[in-house]
Amino acid sequence: MCRDNSISNCVGCRPSNLVDARFVLKSCAVHIRNQGKQRQLLRSPFLLAVVGVVLGAVGFTQFNTPLRSIALFASPTPTFTKTFTPTRTPTHTATATFTRTPTRTFTPTRTHSPTATATHTATARATHTPAATEIPTDTTTPAPIVRDVRVPILMYHHVGDVPPDADAVRKALTVSQERFEEQMKFIAEQGYTTIRIADLMNHLQTGAPLPEKPILLTFDDGYDNNYTNVFPTLKDHGFVGTFFVIGAPTDYGSPGYLRWEQILEMYENGMEFGNHSLTHRYNLGTTRNSTQDAEIKRAHKLMVDHLPNWTPIFSYPSGSYNQYSLNLLRELGYIAAVTTKQGTYQSSEQPYELRRIRIRGEWNMAQFLYWFNYWSGNSADSTQ
Ligand SMILES: [Zn+2]
Repeated sequence: MCRDNSISNCVGCRPSNLVDARFVLKSCAVHIRNQGKQRQLLRSPFLLAVVGVVLGAVGFTQFNTPLRSIALFASPTPTFTKTFTPTRTPTHTATATFTRTPTRTFTPTRTHSPTATATHTATARATHTPAATEIPTDTTTPAPIVRDVRVPILMYHHVGDVPPDADAVRKALTVSQERFEEQMKFIAEQGYTTIRIADLMNHLQTGAPLPEKPILLTFDDGYDNNYTNVFPTLKDHGFVGTFFVIGAPTDYGSPGYLRWEQILEMYENGMEFGNHSLTHRYNLGTTRNSTQDAEIKRAHKLMVDHLPNWTPIFSYPSGSYNQYSLNLLRELGYIAAVTTKQGTYQSSEQPYELRRIRIRGEWNMAQFLYWFNYWSGNSADSTQ
């Protein structure tokens, strides 16, 4: 047997080695038999197929068409198919990977959307918080604070000529046109600024500033001379006035009283209007509650029906009222009521008991100045 069982080291393949002829012959016989098996292997179809595959591969990659044809002829078809199929498989896998990529890109977009929504919600809440904080501040601040101020509220009725047959009451309630204009001129020259009751109450309830020398001009009963005589004079001075009308005669169109169209014209020109009861026949402070209800509520409805966005204010007929009157006005949403109490002291604690200065028709200008200064220039009226 060959020493290391390889042909290259076999002494039979190297004839120069003649040390052991018997061993050489034996070894050569083994190799001769092995070489014969190798030759048979070379001739077998398997070997031919392997050679064909090699030649075909070389022909495809390196050489021209004739050589490729030889390789195709020499190599069996199944071998070529197996080699080509795996090449397509990775290509298909790559396509699948490419399809997944945009899907992953879309997913972050969804993640971004909820993030933006959450940020917006937080911003909206942050903006809303200070607004909510302001509301309770405004609501709670005026309640515990008591404000008072000295503001003259002049009380007029008729302005014009006194009828020839006028009694003392009518004369007292009537200021002549000439004297009225004289009084308005005095107020303007003294630097007073006319305001409405709504302005006064806004100051008392919220602390809103008033002009330096505020004054109010009020006219009770709603006589038609308030339109013909008072309204033009006030417009000449740029003044505003407050007019309290009696519901029934106004609504019936009774002679001597303002008509709704006149009231509306004055109202639209900045004049303020208030409720002075339905008939002016009852002293509210001594009458039955049901009568107060009728006198105040029915006149109230007339005002609401005729004056858009009307702010409810009231003037007690003959200055008479009681606790039921005050409660009823509060329930109906009135912001204020004027009395016939003499004085200029006005308080946020008594919004339904504002004080006034009655201007009497028989006064000359000297008397007007005396009483005007008496009530508005000192603390003559009580604060109780
Ligand atoms: Zn009256």
